[in-house]
Amino acid sequence: MGGSFDPIHIGHLVAASEVAHRFDLDQVVFSPTGEAWHKPEDGRAPSELRYLMTVVATAADPRFRVTRVDIDRPGPTYTVDTLRDLREELADDHPGHTAEWYFITGADALADIVGWRDPERILSEVHLVGVTRPGHALADPGLPQARVSMLEIPALAISSTDIRARVRAGAPITYLVPEGVAHLIAKHGLYRPGS
Ligand code: ATP
Ligand code: MG
Repeated sequence: MGGSFDPIHIGHLVAASEVAHRFDLDQVVFSPTGEAWHKPEDGRAPSELRYLMTVVATAADPRFRVTRVDIDRPGPTYTVDTLRDLREELADDHPGHTAEWYFITGADALADIVGWRDPERILSEVHLVGVTRPGHALADPGLPQARVSMLEIPALAISSTDIRARVRAGAPITYLVPEGVAHLIAKHGLYRPGS
């Protein structure tokens, strides 16, 4: 599951947990995106802190892990590169093992897939799982049915954009993000005006 995770919230975690359950996955690998620019935009968290928040949020779940492949690769993140690097990572860590790959994406991101770099290649390598997200229609993007599944999950109208706006406005984010993530946001003064 790729994302900027700026910050990671319980909408991401519920989506991952539901897909892991329904497809009987051994692992869900969270891949925070790299930085498109050397310095993150105003009001955004640097990749190392997005990575750290993702690690903290997923630490308790034995099925969840986090990869650095996208944050360690310079330049913008393309899913086709993520998938290639994850395969290499698996081959290094567990020589001889093979895996069946799924890519988890929300309804909003799924609608954009035709605009992704190399969509045919992505679909030849993974089973794409689109999950419902409030405010976004889970339309079938017209992709080969054998490679794509649409999954209804508990509706959580939570976005990282809204959480950043809440922090900026001094509104609570308790229960919208894991406790450790809220602590990291406070500790590093993330998403505050002027940070
Ligand atoms: P932003 O508002 O900054 O875009 P976001 O909440 O959309 O943040 P991303 O990191 O962009 O989070 O999303 C990563 C993936 O998780 C995407 O595929 C997105 O569609 C999915 N996703 C995010 N929030 C939800 C949610 N509440 N329900 C279902 N899927 C979600
Ligand atoms: Mg998003």
